[in-house]
Amino acid sequence: MSDCIFCRIAAGEIPAQRVHEDEHVVAFHDLHPQAPTHVLIIPRRHLVSLHAAGDEEGLLLGRLLLAAREIAERLGIGTGYRVVTNCGASAGQSVFHLHLHVLGGRPLGWPPG
Ligand code: AMP
Repeated sequence: MSDCIFCRIAAGEIPAQRVHEDEHVVAFHDLHPQAPTHVLIIPRRHLVSLHAAGDEEGLLLGRLLLAAREIAERLGIGTGYRVVTNCGASAGQSVFHLHLHVLGGRPLGWPPG
């Protein structure tokens, strides 16, 4: 989708501080980090949110989660981090291309806001 900012990051049309990329997945530092480490992991293929994913996306969703684990370990937060995906505006989603937030590097409270 040409008007989707994360599609444009995946395509290399908008710069981002990438920490991982492969055939299916791209990961980059969040522009407005909410923790010392705050990485976003996106599928290259446009999907609006987790809620728009069907059974056929199972493998892709697994790839996103495994990328989260690998990146957390590599960035030194493997002992404590949070993986979040906001689904829908009322849950805080502001970019409508599926993404996982990986947050760590500080104590993370629960419940979230
Ligand atoms: P959400 O509110 O869950 O949809 O998360 C969207 C996230 O994307 C926010 O944390 C933003 O700070 C982040 N964001 C928006 N634009 C960019 C960008 N160009 N590069 C990196 N992160 C971005």
